[in-house]
Amino acid sequence: MTPHLHQQYPELESTLPHIELGKSPTSVRRLSALDSVAAELWIKDDSEFGDGGWGGNKVRKLEWLLPDALRLGRHTIVTVGGLGTNWGLATALYGRELGLKTVLALIDQPVDDHVRSQLERLRHSGAKLYFTRNKTRTILSAPYILARNFSGRRPPYFLPAGGSSPVGALGYVEAALELAAQVRAGELPEPTHLVAPVGSGGTVAGLSLGLRLAGLSTRVVGVVVNDTLRLDAATLYRLADRSAQVLRERGARLPENISALTNLDIVTDYLGPGYGRTTMEATTAQTLSADLEHLTLEPVYTAKAMAALLEMNGQGRFGTGTVVFLNTNGPR
Ligand SMILES: *Cc1c(COP(=O)(O)O)cnc(C)c1O
Repeated sequence: MTPHLHQQYPELESTLPHIELGKSPTSVRRLSALDSVAAELWIKDDSEFGDGGWGGNKVRKLEWLLPDALRLGRHTIVTVGGLGTNWGLATALYGRELGLKTVLALIDQPVDDHVRSQLERLRHSGAKLYFTRNKTRTILSAPYILARNFSGRRPPYFLPAGGSSPVGALGYVEAALELAAQVRAGELPEPTHLVAPVGSGGTVAGLSLGLRLAGLSTRVVGVVVNDTLRLDAATLYRLADRSAQVLRERGARLPENISALTNLDIVTDYLGPGYGRTTMEATTAQTLSADLEHLTLEPVYTAKAMAALLEMNGQGRFGTGTVVFLNTNGPR
């Protein structure tokens, strides 16, 4: 299927390559058992996005990142993550299908059964692993890792944590245009708010830009779950702006004032003791979602975002609006 981005800006068809890795649109449905107070709650279920073996929000980013690497004639992707990195594993698995090799710099994180099994999968994914342990050593060894992984004279394609580069964020510009099409088709009312977790920021930055391009006045509520990266609103607007820049450079005629984004609210009250460390509110949100909506959340990202949504709704922060929860976690 032609992506909405190419439908809206046909001039991008030949300049901005896209590879379909998931089926769209992902479904939207009412969460009626959870919305007994204030706003009407909905879900857009991006857990459906992917090839079955691996799904969720990283796949939307890879749809634009992998062809961008190929367009530049690169053979290798270098990126970073924790020992149990979902992002690194998704890149290795989807990259391999397209003949791209993945090289990972891995930072220590507390090792539990989940992390151990992720690391085992990484070892079998064909990715080359460097155990750089901490952020400083990763930065210091970056030139070495990049130099060691040239393919002939071709440098590797470098990607930041979580794939949140300006090109990666286009996956969520696309998702916002997709949601707008669902609103136009009458599948759901125009949302007043769209709630999503913020791990490296590409998801909410892309949504912020995409909703504007789609002409929706929906506000993005980004629930920060990571304290190891800078994820304030100014930083995320900058990322959205750089994505807009990519679209312009590739020939898209965007409205003049599109960079002046003001539709993103960053919430930091639900992080708890830190990245990957659970909170009571998150555990409660997880239980409620499972019991009332048969919705499975994981503890690191989606449970904290749902905790924020439920509590803010209880406080009347969304009024009687329409709030969409973006489920970013897929089967893996
Ligand atoms: C990576 C991830 C996120 C965070 O998305 P960013 O674009 O990195 O902010 C959210 N949910 C899940 C399940 C993820 O794996």
